[in-house]
Amino acid sequence: MSDQQNVYPVRDDFAANAWADKAKYEAMYQQSMDDPEGFWAEQAKRLDWIKAPTKIKNTSFARDNVDIRWFEDGLLNVSANCLDRHLEKRGDQTAIIWEGDNPDDSKHITYRELYARTNQLANALKELGIGKGDTVTLYMPMIPEAAMAMLACSRIGAVHSVVFGGFSPDAVAQRVIGADSKLVITADESVRGGKHVPLKENVDAALTRDGTDVCKNVLVVKRTGGEIDWKEGRDVWFDELVDKQSSECEPEAMGAEDPLFILYTSGSTGAPKGLKHTTGGYLTYAAMTHQYVFDYQEGEIYWCTADVGWVTGHSYIVYGPLANGATTLMFEGVPSYPTHGRMGDIVDKHNVNILYTAPTAVRALMAHGENVMDSSKRDSLRLLGSVGEPINPEAWEWFYRVIGNEKCPIVDTWWQTETGGIMIAPLPGATPLKPGSATVPFFGVKPALVDNEGKQLEGATEGNLVILDAWPGQARSIWGDHERFVQTYFSTYDGMYFTGDGCRRDEDGYYWITGRVDDVLNVSGHRMGTAEIESSLVAHSAVAEAAVVGFPHDIKGQGIYIYVTLNDGIDPTDELKKELTQWVRKDIGPIASPDVIQWAPGLPKTRSGKIMRRILRKIAANECDGLGDTSTLADPSVVDELIEHRANQ
Ligand code: ATP
Ligand code: MG
Repeated sequence: MSDQQNVYPVRDDFAANAWADKAKYEAMYQQSMDDPEGFWAEQAKRLDWIKAPTKIKNTSFARDNVDIRWFEDGLLNVSANCLDRHLEKRGDQTAIIWEGDNPDDSKHITYRELYARTNQLANALKELGIGKGDTVTLYMPMIPEAAMAMLACSRIGAVHSVVFGGFSPDAVAQRVIGADSKLVITADESVRGGKHVPLKENVDAALTRDGTDVCKNVLVVKRTGGEIDWKEGRDVWFDELVDKQSSECEPEAMGAEDPLFILYTSGSTGAPKGLKHTTGGYLTYAAMTHQYVFDYQEGEIYWCTADVGWVTGHSYIVYGPLANGATTLMFEGVPSYPTHGRMGDIVDKHNVNILYTAPTAVRALMAHGENVMDSSKRDSLRLLGSVGEPINPEAWEWFYRVIGNEKCPIVDTWWQTETGGIMIAPLPGATPLKPGSATVPFFGVKPALVDNEGKQLEGATEGNLVILDAWPGQARSIWGDHERFVQTYFSTYDGMYFTGDGCRRDEDGYYWITGRVDDVLNVSGHRMGTAEIESSLVAHSAVAEAAVVGFPHDIKGQGIYIYVTLNDGIDPTDELKKELTQWVRKDIGPIASPDVIQWAPGLPKTRSGKIMRRILRKIAANECDGLGDTSTLADPSVVDELIEHRANQ
């Protein structure tokens, strides 16, 4: 089974040149555990502070007093750390490579240009009456203006709330209201996979909803020139207002614990939660993890394929890379357009060295076979990364072999919107890799596994993943609802941060995420995570993707219901169902034997690409009327299709 597979030792070139080798990782990790104050005081020096912090850590996870503060008497400005301080040394270096949806469109923006435009935008925001502590909603395409808008907010102390550009008017309205946003920044349209999405029209619709009258202005980037309605007095063209501003704007001195942004989770397990992230600890942590986990070296081209609407885009397209003076690539389109080889083509076009993507993207490519990347060589790649879901070992191996040409380590990074940055991941110069395992904790992260009563489990074991002490990047609250924050993360096990994920730890101390705790199956008294059964199925040559849920079963308590998406060109036959059943029985054991297999042309996923098992569970249980919060579902037609062809149990 999964952990008896290949181990990939640290490559010699990485061990010799990386930011951390094994000895350094171990020494630094130990120090971060023994003396968190000293460790993080030192790390905070990676930032430029207006006033350096003297109070480092002041945190409590106690259920009746959840209070998390880092560097609380320090003053700094995030945009100054991402821009101003780089001008002298790397003003002419590319900060952002933008690759448009159309493969013929791309541009390079230097640090100096990004600085000037961000300052102009910051001044424009001021002209619209936005100041320190105000919130601004961003509903934007993947264009450089999105990064500029985030940085411009941080420059003047405004709090941004990015809403993924694929969301509906209702989601925009809810978030404008939730954050009390005085301003929405958007574009006329976005372009993805050759199709135009009417962002401005969606904002217009959102702002007719009750309660949205807090929003006074809409700042509109002209992306396509497509036709839009215009509301005089409210709507403002981005270029018209920004062009005329000064390119100098004094950065606001922000307290380390002042809010930097609000961001919603993906909504995989329920209604999305709007987390509050703050300034000093978040940036320290985003920058440090970006440097060490991706082993970012001077001058490298780094590409994270996430959208800025997710935390991955915040921490690892914008804030981490720019704080480190990196060149970060921002891609407007989708990996399947104009062909499934697009990711590889982009790598070759821009000589990308580090590629950070998601299992869902890897599995989608796998379904198109070994030759899907043949239009590119990808020789520039040095390191690969994965985030968002457990990466099935089979997908890991494929990613390694087909995309990385068997020479790039893969960093499988486990973390959450709530954690602000990467929590469990290998360091490529220090950690031997095991496909399917996120491996070991990052500096300062103290994971533990507990049973359902909160008792800590030792050694090689399986349990609920908790974090025992605070780290600088973590969310401080749910925006406007601290009680829900405490309830969701700190009330299950007193004094611990509960992640909601199940996890196994092996003999080497490696962590393997087994799936969401909510999704754990209990079959005849045996508890099973979803990841293991799904990975077993994905390892079969006919299977592209699989999702496993439990359903009520008279004898076993829960039965195993499996949704399977087949690879391109494979016929869904009863024969194949039998074969897959045998496959799982043989691989994991009779206890994991599927009761029902349903063919799924597509699986319901969140907009960030995660399988929404809670919806599949409802379909399996034949409770198709109350599917719960579906606001972050990417494609509702997938659900209709599954309901229509629901398997007979
Ligand atoms: P919600 O909290 O609204 O249900 P969500 O948990 O999907 O949504 P995110 O914060 O985007 O929202 O995702 C974090 C979750 O993604 C983690 O708790 C974990 O379940 C999963 N995850 C992320 N990275 C990995 C990884 N490398 N391996 C396994 N699981 C991962
Ligand atoms: Mg979550």
